Amino acid sequence: MKALQYVEVGKAPEIREVPTPEPGPGEVRLKITAAGACHSDSFVMSLSEEEYSAFGYPLPMTLGHEGVGVVDAVGEGVHNVTLGEPVAVYGPQGCGRCRACAQGSENYCPYAADLGIVPPGLGKDGAMAEYMIVKDPRLLIPLGDLDPAENVALTDAGLTPYHAIKGSIDLLVPGSVAVVIGVGGLGHVAVQILRALTPATVVALDLSEEKLEFAREVGAHHAFLSDAEAPARIAEEVGAGPVAAVFDFVTNAKVLEIIQQLAGPRTDMVLVGAGSVERSVGLLGQPYGSRVRAPYWGTRPELMEVFELARSGQVSVETERFSLEDAPEAYRKLHDGQLRGRAVVVP
Ligand code: NAD
Ligand code: ZN
Repeated sequence: MKALQYVEVGKAPEIREVPTPEPGPGEVRLKITAAGACHSDSFVMSLSEEEYSAFGYPLPMTLGHEGVGVVDAVGEGVHNVTLGEPVAVYGPQGCGRCRACAQGSENYCPYAADLGIVPPGLGKDGAMAEYMIVKDPRLLIPLGDLDPAENVALTDAGLTPYHAIKGSIDLLVPGSVAVVIGVGGLGHVAVQILRALTPATVVALDLSEEKLEFAREVGAHHAFLSDAEAPARIAEEVGAGPVAAVFDFVTNAKVLEIIQQLAGPRTDMVLVGAGSVERSVGLLGQPYGSRVRAPYWGTRPELMEVFELARSGQVSVETERFSLEDAPEAYRKLHDGQLRGRAVVVP
């Protein structure tokens, strides 16, 4: 089968011919119907040899941690899925047995790392291929009648902001202000989720007029350029009080400066971006009662909830489609900031 693989640190990913994988006992093979390209993949592929080796992901690795497909074959002992059933892969899998996993919060499983359990496409072969193996049927969420290519990105670009926003839902009351920084794959869904779930006034920040227009189209009440004047512009537009929550889908030193200016007592500062180096700096001396969170992906039940939001038409993903052969081009556009919404690969 064909697969998009990251082969060598620092080199662009390539389409390669690899053996079609066979499901082992307890495993399920999916025929992939769509896979999404996430900036986290770009981030991983931007790491130096030394930084990459800290992850210990073996190469070559098939990319893609957003995946949907149909059940194509099952291993010994799998009885609770139906061949041909359309499903989405829940990516941030845990041990499946601890308290966190029992609650569906496999994204916070404390044992996954020690057990060598990693998400598909981020440590083991992922969804940018014709077929993929899923370790356990519990990681398959029914897709039902949702269109695969339109909705595959909900497994991360929907689930991650949903989880981030749910964690601040107590603050997002009538009259509150929520700021979304970075209206890309995750951020444009975040704006819609805020509008669907809360009465907050939603302000978006990004780097180009085009992105600001996009933010308004998906429901932001206001959108401004993300620069040193952004806090003053926001105050002028929505009043000078502290914002209730900032959802940051970038996380770098510049953005953290903006967040600090926006934060006041009881502000939630929710850092979703992967700019890990900067994550630790600049947030000392926070205002009283403010919370800084670094949420990771989302829970299994939350993915079901996100699919319901899509089913009811309250959330949709702006997608740009690519064939598997053109998947490297999807990553080039993602890297260069040329996408509107999410790049989705349809094998
Ligand atoms: P993306 O490239 O689709 O979108 C990023 C957006 O941020 C773009 O619109 C870009 O123009 C904008 N941007 C860049 N610099 C900015 C700045 N200084 N101010 C304002 N906007 C700026 O990326 P994505 O796939 O949506 O991912 C967003 C981030 O979230 C990435 O860092 C990714 O690694 C991370 N991520 C984290 C998790 C998690 O679980 N914590 C999950 C998925 C993705
Ligand atoms: Zn991701």
